[in-house]
Amino acid sequence: MTAGMLKRGLGSFEGEFTAMKTFVRCGHLFTGQDDEARSGDTLVFDEHGTLDYVGPEKGAPRRARNDQVFDYSAYFVMPGLVDVHTHLAYGNAKSEEDIDLYSPLEFRTLRGMFFAQKVAAAGFTAICSPGDAGQISLSIRNAIRAGLFDGPRVMAAGRYVTTHQGLTDWYPTWIGVPETSIGKLVTTSAEAVEEIRRQVKDGVDCIKIALDGIQRRENGELVAAFTHDETEIMVRETHRLGKKAIAHARGREATLYAARSGVDLIFHANHLDDECIAAMLETGSVVCPTLTHPRNTIDFTQPHDPAYQRGRPDHTRREYEIGCVNWKKARAAGVPMLTGTDTGFAVTPYGEWNARELELFVEDLGFTPAAALRAATEVNARFMIEGDRIGVLEPGRAADFIALDFSPLSDIRLLQDKCRIRAVHIAGKEIRIPDRPYDPRQVTDFALVNWTDLYTRERVAELRRQRPHLAAAE
Ligand SMILES: [Zn+2]
Repeated sequence: MTAGMLKRGLGSFEGEFTAMKTFVRCGHLFTGQDDEARSGDTLVFDEHGTLDYVGPEKGAPRRARNDQVFDYSAYFVMPGLVDVHTHLAYGNAKSEEDIDLYSPLEFRTLRGMFFAQKVAAAGFTAICSPGDAGQISLSIRNAIRAGLFDGPRVMAAGRYVTTHQGLTDWYPTWIGVPETSIGKLVTTSAEAVEEIRRQVKDGVDCIKIALDGIQRRENGELVAAFTHDETEIMVRETHRLGKKAIAHARGREATLYAARSGVDLIFHANHLDDECIAAMLETGSVVCPTLTHPRNTIDFTQPHDPAYQRGRPDHTRREYEIGCVNWKKARAAGVPMLTGTDTGFAVTPYGEWNARELELFVEDLGFTPAAALRAATEVNARFMIEGDRIGVLEPGRAADFIALDFSPLSDIRLLQDKCRIRAVHIAGKEIRIPDRPYDPRQVTDFALVNWTDLYTRERVAELRRQRPHLAAAE
C-alpha cells in the first residue's frame, strides 16, 4: 500500500516507484461469467483495487519484490455477493412504528452503519437499500465511500414515494405520514415529481415507489396506490434525471403498471400474469421476488407473536405459493430474477439470512446452485450503480471477492454459515468486522406494546389449566 500511496502523493517522483500489485492464489475460482469453477487460478489487482489479471497462475504477470500475496489456495473464491433488498434504515424492527417513529434519524444512521458492516461480514460486498428515512442510506454510502468506515458498496434510495392509501401510509389520516417515516406522502403528480427532484438533488441513486395500495377489491386483489398514468410520470422523471426506479408491487395491478412504465426493478410481483410478463420483456423490468422475508415469516413466527395472532404466516404461505408458480413462469419467459431479502426486520436481521435467498432460489424456484450464485453476483450487478465494476471477476472490474472453505456449488446452504466465509475483500481491501455483541433492546425495541394477549377471566383460567405454575402463583 505504501508504494501506491507514495506514488499518488509524490507526483514528481512518479516512475521511481513501481505500483504495488496484489496476487490472490485461488483453490477454485468462480468468476460469475460461467457456471463452472476453475482450479488453480490467480487474481491480480492494482493499488486501486482494480483487477489486472484473472486466469491460470502460469499466465499471470511476474511478481515484483513489493507485491503482496494472499494464499487462498485452500479456498473457493467468488465475486462478493450482492443483495438488492436490504433496508439500512429499519434496524431489525418488530413493527412499522419501530421503523418510522421511535429513534432519531441520527441514531438510525449510526445503527445502519453498524448493520451494513454485519452484512459485509456475511459476504455481501454490495447492497441496494431501497426505501429509507431521512438520508440514512446515502449518508452511510458516502461515509464508506470517503473511507471513514469499512463497509459494503451501497446503492441508496430515499423515502418511498407514496400517496393516500399507498404502502407506508399506514397511520390514520389525523396522524398522517410523520417526517421521520420511510414514506413521503404526495397528493398530486406534480408533488411526486418535485419529491423525485428533491431526492435526486440530495444524492439518491434510485427512487422507490410504493406502488401497492393497502386496499383490496372484493376478489382480494390489491388495488394499486397510483394510477398507470401517475406511475409513468414518476418513472419518466426518474429516468430523465438518470436514476433507476424501484417499485414495491405484490399485486397484479401494481406489477402491471410498474412493468408497463419501465420500472427498473420490481419487488415481490407475486401476482404477475402473462400481461405483466409481456410488459416486462418489452420494457426490460426485472423482478426481485424476495423469498427470504416471507419464508422466514412462515418458518419462524411463533404463536405469541402478534403476526401469528393475525394469521400472517398462513396468509404469507398462500401468497408465497402463488408467487413461486408465477416467478417460475416469468423466469421461463426470460425475465431476469434478482436476489434480495428484505433484510432489516426482526424476522430478517442483518447478515443473518442474506444468503438464505440463494438457498431458496434453488429450493423453491428451481435454480441450479450456479444459477443462484450468478443471480446474486452478475445478474444483480447489472441493476446496481457501478454495476459494470462489480459482480464478475475479470480485468477492469473491482476486486470485490470472498473466500470460502467449501464449494457453494456443492452445498449452497453453507453460505449462511459465517464461520465458513474466510475472507471478504472490497476493492481489494480485506474487510475484517469484529463480531461485536450488542443489546438489541437499546437498538430497536422501542414500541410501547406491553402485552400480546388479552387477560380476561376466561383467558386466565384457560392459561392456568395449560400452565399450572400460574395457578401456584395465586
Ligand atoms: Zn422491502
